[in-house]
Amino acid sequence: MAVDAPLPGTLDYAWAGENLSHGTWVSVPLGRRTVLGMVVTEPIPGSPDLLSVPGQSDLDPSKIRSIVGPVHGLPAADREWIALAAFAARYYRRSFGTVAVGLLPKWLRDLKNYAAKSASGATNFDRLWKSIDTAAASVAKPSRSALDDAPSLNADQTQALAALSRQGVYVLHGVTGSGKTRVYTEAAREALAQDPSAQVLMMVPEIGLTPQLVDRFRQALPGVSIAVLHSEVSERERAKLWLSAATNQARLVIGTRLAIMTPMPGLRLIMIDEEHDHSYKQQEGLRYSARDLAVWRAQHLGATLVLGSATPSIETWAQIDRGRYQRLSLPHRATGEPAAPIRLIDTLKDPATEGLSTESRAAISTVLEQGGQVLVFLNRRGYAPVLGCGSCGWSSLCRDCGVATVLHKLNSAKNAAAPRAANAATNGAAKTAAKSEWRLQCHHCGLTTPVPRQCPDCGDPDLQPLGRGVQRLEQTLQTAFPNARVLRVDRDSVRQAKALEQALETIARGEVDIVVGTQMLAKGHDFARMRLVVVADADTQLLNPDFRAPERLFATLMQVAGRAGRHETAGDPAQVLIQTRYPQHRLYRFLLSQDVAGFARMEMEDRQAAGLPPFTHMAAVRAAYRDEGKTRELLRGLRGTLEQLAQAHSWPVTVYGPVARYPEVQAGKWRGQILLESGSRSALHNLLASAEDWMVQHRELDTHLEVDPVEVSGG
Ligand code: ADP
Ligand code: ZN
Ligand code: ZN
Repeated sequence: MAVDAPLPGTLDYAWAGENLSHGTWVSVPLGRRTVLGMVVTEPIPGSPDLLSVPGQSDLDPSKIRSIVGPVHGLPAADREWIALAAFAARYYRRSFGTVAVGLLPKWLRDLKNYAAKSASGATNFDRLWKSIDTAAASVAKPSRSALDDAPSLNADQTQALAALSRQGVYVLHGVTGSGKTRVYTEAAREALAQDPSAQVLMMVPEIGLTPQLVDRFRQALPGVSIAVLHSEVSERERAKLWLSAATNQARLVIGTRLAIMTPMPGLRLIMIDEEHDHSYKQQEGLRYSARDLAVWRAQHLGATLVLGSATPSIETWAQIDRGRYQRLSLPHRATGEPAAPIRLIDTLKDPATEGLSTESRAAISTVLEQGGQVLVFLNRRGYAPVLGCGSCGWSSLCRDCGVATVLHKLNSAKNAAAPRAANAATNGAAKTAAKSEWRLQCHHCGLTTPVPRQCPDCGDPDLQPLGRGVQRLEQTLQTAFPNARVLRVDRDSVRQAKALEQALETIARGEVDIVVGTQMLAKGHDFARMRLVVVADADTQLLNPDFRAPERLFATLMQVAGRAGRHETAGDPAQVLIQTRYPQHRLYRFLLSQDVAGFARMEMEDRQAAGLPPFTHMAAVRAAYRDEGKTRELLRGLRGTLEQLAQAHSWPVTVYGPVARYPEVQAGKWRGQILLESGSRSALHNLLASAEDWMVQHRELDTHLEVDPVEVSGG
């Protein structure tokens, strides 16, 4: 029996009732609780310790407790799903039971939902089940597809689609607007048409992108029941969607990273949009990469996997090089319009006064006169990254983390809802002067504090915001272009998927002239009238020492640039301006020529030379504790132990550290890690097993393992 507990194997329980088949969900006593468990009576490939053979147990029979009974109604887990859970448990080093039980939606794990509540005997589960039956029955009959009128596929799309009919892993490499989404919908249509029980899984990096995509699929596949799964779906709804996928009633599942764990007995095709996106990596609990699990799942099932991106990850490029993935290229925009040219503005020569150079201001003004829209991108939330004292050099730091706290302006009404914000902007900047409140916020731990009236060190009342965030840039733009309607889009103005959707609609309807925002705006949104993109400042990211920082920045800038000029409109040709103090930086060489493959080649050479992933495998053992010296000492001890062990067994693993993570201190605890690097995954995993023993022995530390960490300095 697998239960949600940190055990290496399974537990034995007694049962005198009818045979319980492999994968059946049961309720069992565990300690003083009754919990959900899963019957494991068949060997799981790769995980031999997970088998309990019926009738056999090494335990003293008097010590074996009894199963309470099967959970009626909950469909048994299928073999493929069990294998997926077992693989994830093995690979990310968690117990199988924790993963398998933990993967079920919370609502389904709650045994109360299976207990009869009233005299009628109906349980919450029964009611949920009934609503699925009704929902399935009410799905519209296939009608004429809206896409029957859509332009036919172009030659590149046709070729890509044809290739996908053969099982394998494919990289759909196409710039924004090249028609990838069209390929996704067509591929889904073909897969579903071929087999009445086939299912398709479509993954997107964030919730904000799902509504647009769901619309495209609804239009392309009328009558197909679609389950949309993401973190903002309620627990009960998630349970319902899960059941409809598990029973093959939902044929298409569209969702964010958690959707990769959905049981789909008919799964034939998995597609991942923006496969390079880091939001596919879960950063807590089971620290999985949804993309990597998708690769495993597709191969295990013999299904086809499509990894779509304008800037495939370096991991993916390396697999293309090794001949494991096949690249399908959509090199041109489907609408025929050329990509907007990118130019650099050297801010040492043309200084960015109040955040904008003379050239950027002139370009914005021209586009506004021609009735076009402008996007100003700055990936920094808040008003200013720090508050400082000009007299003594004091700067605002988080009490708990020691990093600079960000000055935020909280003017609640203005950005509460996007359309209203646009109106407020129309009515002029005057209204925004309405009393704003200021706060200092730590972006690492979230701690928010009032702004001091005077310098805590020298008493000088003249504290200055230093540097610039999007809120300050918004103010600059509003002042410089008083007649323009300015809308800010960031995590402070747009908290939920719904609000983002509204903001995007406002932009699409042309009710905004200047959009200023962060990363949130970079991804897959189609803005018809966007004639100019200005990147206000990317220099901080350019200088970030994390080995994946250049890859991330390149992808972001390509994406942001892709927002410009997606459709034919009047006026000057669309363009992209990037303000920087480092115009000579080699990343820009590839960006200017939009040479994605060239950039990837350079990154791969660098990583290979430096022995970094994807040419080695990496894992981190992370620890946090209130005493830095002690934590370092313990981690140093662990490193010594691991090095000795590796040497004794001739395991080719290099251990680094201890090194601090960024930020070093969080919630009063110092955060450090040691890094393990190896060309051999099995050697790495062998050492991680000893690291786990060490973790168990040092419970006073907050520890966790991270396999394939995405951020090596932070995270
Ligand atoms: P991507 O997903 O790569 O950003 P989309 O599939 O959204 O690209 O297509 C971008 C735009 O081009 C959309 O407006 C879409 O309707 C249009 N489009 C897609 N395929 C074609 C085609 N074969 N012919 C003409 N227009 C197309
Ligand atoms: Zn001071
Ligand atoms: Zn903090």
